[in-house]
Amino acid sequence: MSLIGTHVSVAGGVWLAPERGDSLGCESIQIFTKNQLQWLAAPLSDSACERFMNAWRQSRISKIVAHSSYLLNLASEGETRTRSLAALADEIRRCEQLGIDELVLHPGSHLGEGIGPGRALVAEGLKQVIDKTGSSRTRILLETMSGQGNTLGSSLEELAWIIESLDDNSRLGVCLDTCHLFAGGYELRGRVSYERIVRSVERLFGIDRVGCWHLNDSKKDMGSHLDRHQHIGEGQIGVEFFSCIVSDPRWGDTPCLLETPKEGSGDEGNLALLRKLRGF
Ligand SMILES: [Zn+2]
Ligand SMILES: [Zn+2]
Repeated sequence: MSLIGTHVSVAGGVWLAPERGDSLGCESIQIFTKNQLQWLAAPLSDSACERFMNAWRQSRISKIVAHSSYLLNLASEGETRTRSLAALADEIRRCEQLGIDELVLHPGSHLGEGIGPGRALVAEGLKQVIDKTGSSRTRILLETMSGQGNTLGSSLEELAWIIESLDDNSRLGVCLDTCHLFAGGYELRGRVSYERIVRSVERLFGIDRVGCWHLNDSKKDMGSHLDRHQHIGEGQIGVEFFSCIVSDPRWGDTPCLLETPKEGSGDEGNLALLRKLRGF
């Protein structure tokens, strides 16, 4: 069955994350391997990596996914592009050091140049970074986005286009964010909608490309293009879609990660609800 979990803080040291997730009963967690709002980070020391691996081994967490910095924009040009490509390669190396196989990436913003030129830049940038980190096995998961402003990735077809434009795309996958899909215009309410989305995913990517789900309800309406996460069952999507995901054997070893608000019922409440929806 699905691996239920949440995004966990690395405050105080990356090695503290597995225990934090474990104490919440997580089967998977997501972390940042560095400050997500800064370009540069001190390299991970061997002892930090060792402590992280030990803590992971001692926990009940099966999979850990990393989320890359919000600053990266592979659809940019000039200085920001150079920095983004270098920073993405660095994030892949950090994942490698920590034994993390999946790294979530926001495809980027086309900065007014349009989706066509933007997605071509993203594909070209990914190719460069993948070539440069050839010895790594870390997969880059392109995340579905809500389409706010000039954000790329609000349609599954757009992500499929990027993946297909690389000759060797074995290190590319997708991260399906429920709030972003819904805000991007996909109907997710009801079982029929769920089956429709999964059929699209199978047709465009195949189930194996899906490295993780981000389980977030949405404060805003379908098609609003606004990215506002809400507690599961308290937003516009409602519990049924989430129930379909966590109880579907096709997502047997797929991390299903919350990025819901920490206030209110918090992680405990959302995790308990997901376990109940899954049946245990
Ligand atoms: Zn994200
Ligand atoms: Zn979001």
